[in-house]
Amino acid sequence: MTGPPSTSALDLAADMLGPLASPNASLAPFCTYRVGGPARLLVEARSVGDLDLVHRAVTASGCQTLVVGKGSNLLVADAGFPGIAVHLGPGFEQIDIDHGRSLVTAGGAALLPVVARRTAAAGLTGFEWAVGVPGSIGGAVRMNAGGHGSDMAAALTRVSVFDLVEGGPVDWTVDQLGLGYRRSNIGPGHIVVSADLALEPGDTERSNAEIAEIVRWRRSHQPGGQNAGSVFANPPGDSAGRLIDSLGLKGFRIGTAEVSTKHANFVQADPDGSADDIHALIREVRLRVAAASGIELSVENRLIGFETEEGTQ
Ligand SMILES: Cc1cc2nc3c(=O)[nH]c(=O)nc-3n(C[C@H](O)[C@H](O)[C@H](O)COP(=O)(O)OP(=O)(O)OC[C@H]3O[C@@H](n4cnc5c(N)ncnc54)[C@H](O)[C@@H]3O)c2cc1C
Repeated sequence: MTGPPSTSALDLAADMLGPLASPNASLAPFCTYRVGGPARLLVEARSVGDLDLVHRAVTASGCQTLVVGKGSNLLVADAGFPGIAVHLGPGFEQIDIDHGRSLVTAGGAALLPVVARRTAAAGLTGFEWAVGVPGSIGGAVRMNAGGHGSDMAAALTRVSVFDLVEGGPVDWTVDQLGLGYRRSNIGPGHIVVSADLALEPGDTERSNAEIAEIVRWRRSHQPGGQNAGSVFANPPGDSAGRLIDSLGLKGFRIGTAEVSTKHANFVQADPDGSADDIHALIREVRLRVAAASGIELSVENRLIGFETEEGTQ
């Protein structure tokens, strides 16, 4: 469905979801930028049964959907999201480790740093890189998150996906996921419920040392505070941060949003800042990089609810 849903569609969805849906709920607390407007309806799903209810409401009403993970790659417009936002609750945070097969099954809401530390403690190696990525397993599958020479694609073997339009859940193979650089075939109506990761037998002490080094590197190279990691994907053979820095844009500000003075590919939001300021800053930086270098940067942050989402992959 395109455009805002009619009030009657939202009313129908609200009626069908009952107390499961909170009306006009701010998404700012769910996003690491800590800014942005409300979802017309917000559901915190406790179980696959709850997802089934959302599926029925979506099918009957035609409302559009947004899956919100840990919000560490999301920028929601100040006007908000005009549909049903779904957030996986604690029931989807489980992490099961099969030591014999070095296989991990993690829920869609499990935090990457927790999975990284738990698997290292269990004597498995291959997921240490994820300790510095503050997202969920589901968001990381959708984005094929990665860093420090690895990514989700290196370990994923199977993903359980609930389709909010078709129902589910259904197992997807790695081929079906179509993983590429910060992309996958997971779409706006798909919810990653759990994922299997094939790791290798390792050595806890060595993995912990690697984790400590990654944490140290992140603290010295990346800012804390209200941001959503790299705003732009790196263009082939270059770095978005280098291109932005070369134009002297560290510290460049529009309203309540500023290009980080520590890392030029991060944007910092002020406390009580505005998502629309961040969006304006992203557009301006993108225009300036294109004018100076001819390179049209792709926006890695997921932009939700803006009239123009140009540059989004
Ligand atoms: C300080 C910092 C450092 C970062 N470093 C890195 C890095 O090194 N490498 C990297 O790749 N990223 C990095 N990121 C970005 C971000 O953490 C990743 O993209 C992460 O995978 C997003 O997960 P999330 O749960 O926060 O997803 P969200 O931001 O909530 O959502 C991102 C996308 O995934 C979708 N989504 C979320 N959950 C699900 C689900 N269960 N099922 C289906 N779709 C879902 C959303 O609809 C949206 O399209 C960083 C972010 C920060 C703030």
